[in-house]
Amino acid sequence: MNLLRVLNKFVSAANRFRSSIFALAILIAIIIFTAQTTGIFELLESNLLDKFFQIRASEGMEARIVMITFDDVDISKIGKWPFSDAVVAKMITKVRNGKPRVIGLDVYRNIPVDSGFEELKSVLQSTPNLIVAEKIVQPSVSPPNYISYDQQVGFVDVMVDEDGIVRRGLLSVEKDGGEIVYSFAIKIALQYLRAENISPQISTGSDRAVTLGKAKILPYQSGYEFTDDGGYQTLMNYRCRTDCFQSISMTDVLAGKYPQNLFENRIVLIGSTAESLRDFFLSPYGKIPGVYIHANLISQIVNGAINGRPFLQTSPKWIEGILVLLSSFVGVNGISSFLRLGSLGKSQFIIGIITFLSISVFGLLVISYLSFLLSLWLPIVPTVFSFLFSSVISIIYLSEKFRYASNIDELTQIANRRYFDRFLHKNFNTKKDLSVILCDIDHFKLYNDSYGHQSGDLCLKQVASAIAKSVRSGELAGRYGGEEFAVVLPDADFEAALSVAERIVMNVRSLNIPHKSSKTSNIVTLSCGIATMTVEDGSSLDLLIRADRALYKAKELGRDRAVGSDQV
Ligand code: GH3
Ligand code: MG
Ligand code: MG
Repeated sequence: MNLLRVLNKFVSAANRFRSSIFALAILIAIIIFTAQTTGIFELLESNLLDKFFQIRASEGMEARIVMITFDDVDISKIGKWPFSDAVVAKMITKVRNGKPRVIGLDVYRNIPVDSGFEELKSVLQSTPNLIVAEKIVQPSVSPPNYISYDQQVGFVDVMVDEDGIVRRGLLSVEKDGGEIVYSFAIKIALQYLRAENISPQISTGSDRAVTLGKAKILPYQSGYEFTDDGGYQTLMNYRCRTDCFQSISMTDVLAGKYPQNLFENRIVLIGSTAESLRDFFLSPYGKIPGVYIHANLISQIVNGAINGRPFLQTSPKWIEGILVLLSSFVGVNGISSFLRLGSLGKSQFIIGIITFLSISVFGLLVISYLSFLLSLWLPIVPTVFSFLFSSVISIIYLSEKFRYASNIDELTQIANRRYFDRFLHKNFNTKKDLSVILCDIDHFKLYNDSYGHQSGDLCLKQVASAIAKSVRSGELAGRYGGEEFAVVLPDADFEAALSVAERIVMNVRSLNIPHKSSKTSNIVTLSCGIATMTVEDGSSLDLLIRADRALYKAKELGRDRAVGSDQV
């Protein structure tokens, strides 16, 4: 398994710092954080934010805004689209008589329509608290040319995310020639706030912060490489889709069917909800008429400035980095503590892991939602990914490591008896020859007696390593018992096995480990017994018995040699 090998290399390097598992966590955090900067989590993150808007409790009605809308029924009652200048003039006059603080006309009036041009012109010119829509993105739609552009015009273009949803509100845009133009929403909000003596204070610092009454607005920067960060935009902190705004139909307004003080001192927005006019966008709540997007943004600015209702803030990149790193640590640590609870059964273990992962992910989502309620948009998706990724890698890595450890002899670091038996069993299944070599160190008891048990251990390690070096890949050398070793050679006939055994005897001799009390030589030697069989000749136990007999014979013949079972 390549991944494990790579991880192992990394971990063994980090082991020098005595914190392999922490190194793994850091590696994962770096991977996730790098992935995040490419924006791959953006869509998931935004969808999660949408869900948060949907489940957030209602903040009640927005009393400062009244909507005058017209749908297809109104259009057919009025009898003409676009409405004639006379109709628009009549409506604005009625609204104006109701003493609103600001009127926003989200209807394009770039060219005269039917009768009433002079009348409309005079109404618009004599209503300085009326803002009219223009569209600046091509194909653009100009505002009426007879009103003050600076005071009475705002653009209604909106910023749409890649998935079509409006999550950002535009406040201003710098046009090609360097001219800065302001949006319909900010123009209306600023007019409204002027009566409260609130005007924007623009920071001279590099953060381009704008203080507006109690609100501090920071330009939204996504941080993702491929997102359009143009203009001065802020994250939309929607109050609702449409139902927190009191609304009245345009037909009712024209007919005078509304309470007398309905418009008094409020913002009145006039716009379409007609399906046929297609002035709709997608919001976190689904489809929404354009004029309600402006209403939400105006409400956000005005409430922010007067009541301190917070703007949605994004967290600094370094906080996200720390969260990703922390969650990676928690994942790695949680899993490794889990695996250390060795007494768990398999199903208990799986249930335990799933519970641990689910509770943690749920906890992260709750933290993210709570921070959203506190108006901080904390991107939690990379954190969740980092947590899950580190947990899964830890499960794979640690269980691989445990599995590996359970197959390895601790002292000599070669395969143990358990693994040897499995390997033999697995490979002893073809009609081809399979050979086994059993080796036993000569006079090892005497070695222990002369040099002590610790030196004996050291000697075992050296011999094991010499034997392991004598076999090729696909073959297996293992510790069979105390000072006995065994080698399995799949597909090897007797001659091939004999030459391997002789090489082992040679290699151990060339270690030149002094053995003053040996009755065979003055260095450590070993004896080997070889047996070769196919499945048709008997069981693997028979094979081992034959090899053991051959080993006994090798001892009998004077040790320090390899003997085949056919010589027994
Ligand atoms: P022979 O040449 O006939 O094999 O003689 P021997 O002394 O090697 O044979 P015997 O089986 O009598 O002794 C094996 C010795 O190996 C006994 C035991 O103390 C030693 N031994 C077994 N396991 C270990 C170990 O893990 N460490 C050390 N240091 N000694 C071990
Ligand atoms: Mg021995
Ligand atoms: Mg022995």
